[in-house]
Amino acid sequence: MISVEQHLDRILNTVKVIRPFELGVLDAQGCILAADVEARGSLPGFTNSAMDGYAVHAADIATATAEDPVVLPVVNDIAAGNTQALSLAQGQTMRIMTGAPMPHGADAVVPVEATDGGVVRVAIRERRLAGAHVREAGEDVEAGNVVLRRGTLLGPGQIALLAAAGIARVRVVPRPRVVVVSTGDELVEVGRTPGFGQIVDSNSVMLTAAVTAVGATPFRVGGVPDDARTLMDTLEGQLVRADVIITTGGVSMGAFDTVKEVLSRVGTVQFDKVAMRPGMPQGFGVLGEEQVPVFTLPGNPVSALVSFHVFVAPALRAMAGRPEPSYPPGYVPAVAAEPFTSVPGKMEFVRVVLDDDRARLAGGQGSHMLGALAAADALAVVPADVAEVAAGDELMCLPLLGREGQ
Ligand code: AMP
Ligand code: MG
Repeated sequence: MISVEQHLDRILNTVKVIRPFELGVLDAQGCILAADVEARGSLPGFTNSAMDGYAVHAADIATATAEDPVVLPVVNDIAAGNTQALSLAQGQTMRIMTGAPMPHGADAVVPVEATDGGVVRVAIRERRLAGAHVREAGEDVEAGNVVLRRGTLLGPGQIALLAAAGIARVRVVPRPRVVVVSTGDELVEVGRTPGFGQIVDSNSVMLTAAVTAVGATPFRVGGVPDDARTLMDTLEGQLVRADVIITTGGVSMGAFDTVKEVLSRVGTVQFDKVAMRPGMPQGFGVLGEEQVPVFTLPGNPVSALVSFHVFVAPALRAMAGRPEPSYPPGYVPAVAAEPFTSVPGKMEFVRVVLDDDRARLAGGQGSHMLGALAAADALAVVPADVAEVAAGDELMCLPLLGREGQ
């Protein structure tokens, strides 16, 4: 029996950051930049108005007050999108809209609210100093400067900056492509009615959703029967598009545990009993020339999802170049709302509902119980040396993926 930490360490020491790749900025959402990015153009690209109003020479309106407005002739209208290079003579004004280019010579904008809104001539009731309501070319970003550093996670704001600064494609660590295979003669495809002795293959949809929730790209293969040849052919066929393969089922002590049987023979996947509940039987290793990491998770749905959170998700984050928060990663503190027991010698992952920081049991804790799993917000982690949790005890909880907005 090995500990959860030992198994996770072996995994994190094996997986590598995926080779960087150039992607369109939108496709790069959620990815980590693999190189510093320099702005092609400045932002703003031209000096423009920050308000709807009148472009002026500030000196012309220095005496303007509500009682004694300065009246100027309006010689032009400049809308956003106007591409003409205009010039403003002293003693004149032009109507200008937000984002429209400032005419040469003008150095301030008087907002329309500080005027009578005239279109032929305008009475300006308030003075503005030079620079007022003007967005200077390059004040935000200067062409040639580094705008985003290597290692930056690309969200909507970063993607907007890249696009605005003239960058359509970026070098990023791509999302890991994750092939999800479930095994078992009892499985039928989602949407089909299982016959007696059969069940719907819920693991492959669950893990596909989990892969999406960590920002990786899933390829769901679905259920394959407990047949060594079929399984090996399936895995070999999938290697070409996989950065990671996840299987479920067939790794415990049953007579038809094909995954273990087949991959033990290959010799690059190691099967261990990990001191945890649920999720004790685990396999991990690499397959094929490209040394694709393979996680063989147990078949019981709760075991499979717990294993995903504890082992697969940190590995996918590492492969995507994301810095992992300190160990244990991503955990939040809570307080037990009720007492419960835990098996000694194993780290237990208890499905809990979180009410602020109070954790109560989410129902049946059997590793086949999807009802309680679906009701849960988090996995409360009870360390191996703890056999009893009292109400009020502090618990570390691992939030379940995709439940953040609840
Ligand atoms: P195994 O690890 O193959 O012995 O399976 C353990 C339990 O998990 C059995 O009750 C299986 O029927 C169930 N199971 C295995 N694969 C799946 C799956 N893809 N979806 C739902 N349950 C499964
Ligand atoms: Mg099975």
